[in-house]
Amino acid sequence: MRRPWEPPDADPHDAIDRCDRCDACGATACVRVTVAHEGILLFCDPHYRVHESAIVTAGYGVRDERRTLDEDIALALALARALDSAA
Ligand SMILES: [Zn+2]
Repeated sequence: MRRPWEPPDADPHDAIDRCDRCDACGATACVRVTVAHEGILLFCDPHYRVHESAIVTAGYGVRDERRTLDEDIALALALARALDSAA
């Protein structure tokens, strides 16, 4: 189930791209699940929570970057506030 835009040798352990989208809803993805012989699934936080127990039980590879994304968002908000107060 390789995505058409991924090269066949795409490393499933690459960091999640900020352009990656949740397969369920299209929101920014922050969790990547590697399913053996199937490919990669991308989830946003809410959708990962829905499927988390099944994914963990199945033993799929999970790369969870929710905290990294949260930190990015916090940084962006802090920057926006700083720019606002400077204006
Ligand atoms: Zn989603």
